[in-house]
Amino acid sequence: MRYDRIGLIDQLEMQQILLKEELVYLIANFGEKESRYLFERAAAMRKKNYGTDVYIRGLIEITSYCKRNCLYCGIRAGNQHAERYRLTKEEILECCHIGNELGFKTFVLQGGEDPYYTDELMTDIILAIKKAYPENAITLSLGEKSYESYKMFREAGADRYLLRHETANNEHYNQLHPPQMSGQERKHCLADLKRLGFQFGTGFMVGSPFQTPELLAEDLLFIHEIQPQMVGIGPFIPHHETPFADQQAGSVPLTLFMIGLLRLILPHALLPSTTALGTAEANGRELGILAGANVIMPNLSPLDVRKKYMIYDNKIATGLEAAESLAGLKKSMNAIGYQIVETRGDFKK
Ligand code: SAM
Repeated sequence: MRYDRIGLIDQLEMQQILLKEELVYLIANFGEKESRYLFERAAAMRKKNYGTDVYIRGLIEITSYCKRNCLYCGIRAGNQHAERYRLTKEEILECCHIGNELGFKTFVLQGGEDPYYTDELMTDIILAIKKAYPENAITLSLGEKSYESYKMFREAGADRYLLRHETANNEHYNQLHPPQMSGQERKHCLADLKRLGFQFGTGFMVGSPFQTPELLAEDLLFIHEIQPQMVGIGPFIPHHETPFADQQAGSVPLTLFMIGLLRLILPHALLPSTTALGTAEANGRELGILAGANVIMPNLSPLDVRKKYMIYDNKIATGLEAAESLAGLKKSMNAIGYQIVETRGDFKK
């Protein structure tokens, strides 16, 4: 069956979700013409809802220890060559201080699943950040936890939580993860986060091993079904100390096309133009914004630990202080007709 690809994009813009086979067709058969058209429509949609503002989130990578063994990830427990570090509460607060001075109104605390950070310790850290910066938003990205743990974090003041579903298809999930992990459990966590009133985010890697257009279509349908406020996607990039060391990296044009589709499917979503996109291509983050993304997450982690949070090879760690890299980012956004704004950048609906 052949479909009119431009017509399918128009349908998405009119808020009609497509059938799985239509999405598969579009994903498997888009060319430059469709990309150009999609990015134009996605840019118009994001301008209607968010103007040309780009929100910034200060990313603090709090630990490179992880008890999980995701097959794609450089900080997986099984990687004995990974350099491990943990930030103390004081170091995290210092990152927040630097970020706040620079105009960051959201802090993202991300890390491997590290039992060192007990619920009590995390709660203490969240309370301390909220006390020092009551106007700022806190986003957590610490993996799978129990409902009770998420509830403690929420009650302590955490506003948002990022947990990529990685792939909506359970068989594919099992190809990317060890047997102890399950796609169902991941989805269960997302349901808990939603129920607790977090602004929640999900997402996936584009070009992960064994991924097909059918699986990407399932991802889009799953996202449409759960209606997250945020969706983070970036190309899969191999890490040399993982079982997927020899797999191909995800394609940048396909990642950009998926960002454009997501913008039309979730017109109000907060979509980051990710570090992985910036790693895969020098101007990847700018291209992500032009394809419909509206968030950038610059790194606020201390300089000496940045190279240790190596989830994939060559992850960009410029060695620039947060202030310098922010200045560069402001310039590069202005050059493409967008501007970084210093607000919390909450979901607008
Ligand atoms: N542990 C938390 C979790 O599982 O959500 C947060 C940290 S985890 C490293 C953040 C994300 O990095 C994952 O959801 C995954 O999609 C992405 N990631 C891991 N390895 C990657 C790779 N090789 N290429 C691209 N992205 C990767």
